[in-house]
Parts: sequence; C-alpha cells; structure tokens
Amino acid sequence: MSGAQNHKVTLLAGGVGGAKMAEGLAALPDVALSVIGNVADDDDFHGLWVSPDIDTLTYSLADVIDRTQGWGVADESHRALETLNRLGADTWMSLGDRDFGLHIYRTMRRLKGDRPSDIARDVARAFGAGAEILLPTDNKVQTRVRTDAGWLSFQEYFVRERCAPEVRELAFDGLDKARPAPEALAAIRQADLIVIAPSNPLVSIAPILGVPGMSAALRAARAPKVAVSPFIGGKVVKGPADRMMAALGERADAAGVAARYRGLADTLVIDHADAGLAGEIRAMGLAPVCSEILMTTQEDKARLAREVADLGLARANRETAA
Ligand code: GDP
Ligand code: CA
Repeated sequence: MSGAQNHKVTLLAGGVGGAKMAEGLAALPDVALSVIGNVADDDDFHGLWVSPDIDTLTYSLADVIDRTQGWGVADESHRALETLNRLGADTWMSLGDRDFGLHIYRTMRRLKGDRPSDIARDVARAFGAGAEILLPTDNKVQTRVRTDAGWLSFQEYFVRERCAPEVRELAFDGLDKARPAPEALAAIRQADLIVIAPSNPLVSIAPILGVPGMSAALRAARAPKVAVSPFIGGKVVKGPADRMMAALGERADAAGVAARYRGLADTLVIDHADAGLAGEIRAMGLAPVCSEILMTTQEDKARLAREVADLGLARANRETAA
C-alpha cells in the first residue's frame, strides 16, 4: 500500500475555516479524507433547502469555490435572484445562479424522501470533491441566535444582520432529538486521526459535537485528536467567533478554544503568536503545539495539514508500536 491513501483522517469542519483545512488534508497523497460538516446553518430560501457550510466544503474541495470571498461558486451570476427581487421576494441571502442548481437538486431529492447524507455524498462525488462529505445527522438541526431584538435564525443573524447584534444566547433547535448518522459515527470509529478544523467552536463545531452520541464516539475513538485554533494572536481571522465567545462569558482566544475541546481533543495547534497561552492550554489537558496557522495559499493549507497529520499519525504509530 506504499504511497496509497492509507491513513484515514476524519475532519470535523464548519464552512470557510473548515474548508481550508479540508483542502489541505485532501491534498496529502497518503490521506483518505472524510469530512463531517455542519448542517445547523441550513435553512429554507424560496422553497429550497440551502446548506451553506456543506456547500462551502463541496465547492472548495471541488475547486469551483469563489476564492475571493471564500464561499459560493466562482464565475457566478445572480439573475434568478434579480427575478425574485422583482417579484418582491426577500433577497438578502445571496444565492448565485449556479448555486441555485444545487439547491434545486437537493430539495428535489429531499422531497423524494432521500436521506440528506446520501444527497450530500452524491453531490460531493458528482462535483469530484476528492473527499467524502458526511453529515453529522440526517435530522433537521438549526442554530438560533437570541439578540436584544429577539430570536433570529442563524442566516438572519449572520447574513441579513451581518453579525451586528450582540449575541445573548445560542440554541440549536432539534439537536437534542437528532440521531447521529451511521456514516459519521463509523468515520470517527475507524479514523487513524481525527482533526477538529479551525472553525467557529460555538456555531460550527458545537452543533456537530452536540448530536447525541457524537461526543461519546469521539471520546471512545482510538485515534489521536488534533484541533487547530481559529484564533491567531488573540483574534479570529474572520467572522463572529470572538465576539460571540466574549458575549457568552467565554475566553475569546486559543485558551477559550482549549476549554471547549477539553476531553475531546488531545492536541491543540496554536499560532506562534499565541505561544504565551501554552501553559494554560496544557493545564486543561491539551498538548499545545505552535505553528503558523494562517492559511492563505494552497501551499499554506497543505503545509499545515502535513504538520497536523504528522503530529497525529506519528503518535498513532508510536502507540501501535508500544
Ligand atoms: P463559517 O461556517 O464559514 O463561519 O466557517 P468556519 O466555522 O469553518 O470557520 C470560521 C473560523 O475560521 C473563524 O473563526 C476564523 O478565525 C477561522 N479561520 C478562517 N481562516 C483561517 C485560517 O487561515 N487559519 C485559522 N487558524 N483559522 C481560520
Ligand atoms: Ca457556517
């Protein structure tokens, strides 16, 4: 099997930060990658079921992503949205024409009664994503955000309100009754390495880990578990994770990420700029490893992925040898 994709790596990932890590890992010749994505950002628009984080993973891994914005399809037009706008529909959720095709397909298959996991798998394969894309659950789970103006759906908060309102509380509708997808549990059980992407811990990773049985599966897994911090030098690269964590009384830095992943990850990769937090992270039971964790180019993604893979796989080899 030399040189073959002989290491099974399972990545837990949200949208943009998750997709960068996914692309890096998918580029490693010795890795067979399965990505468990986040479905709690999903919502209905114009009668169509939209799954933003799963689509960001698919489009990124298939290399059709709009690289300037990090989401959506490259070379996109918005004529369908123009028509909807003319007809008086709410069009704050930017959906491109090519993108609409996928939402139509997903909705059509859901209406036929197909499992969401099967649809996501088939879409990833048809796009040539080069990794398995798995859903944590086939049930409907939706993040809701309480602000001073009341409860908002996640996309109302994230896209319509541009994350401006203070977050007072987060809720995940349907999460407590969701059942884990068997493929996701198997990917955790069979992995040689489990990676938690530098995704938003509160609204991307928490709704994956919160599916009943998922955290227990992670704890029971034999594989080493390496998380990568979404904070660099005490700041997020993009998005509201820092403000959300602060507003909810959590540390808005790599130590706050360690607190979230305590007992679930055994290693936390942080940026050199956050080396000062290593002691606190170690005290929470995670081994801190410093690196350069900003991923701008494809080379950055593959380099960080190589380091993450080597960290975990070296450890797995040591443990097998012992
Ligand atoms: P979303 O679903 O599109 O919001 O994306 P994710 O939840 O997957 O990722 C959002 C997080 O990714 C943010 O907290 C960012 O700080 C983090 N992020 C984005 N780019 C990078 C990067 O290059 N390196 C690291 N370490 N984190 C990143
Ligand atoms: Ca997201």
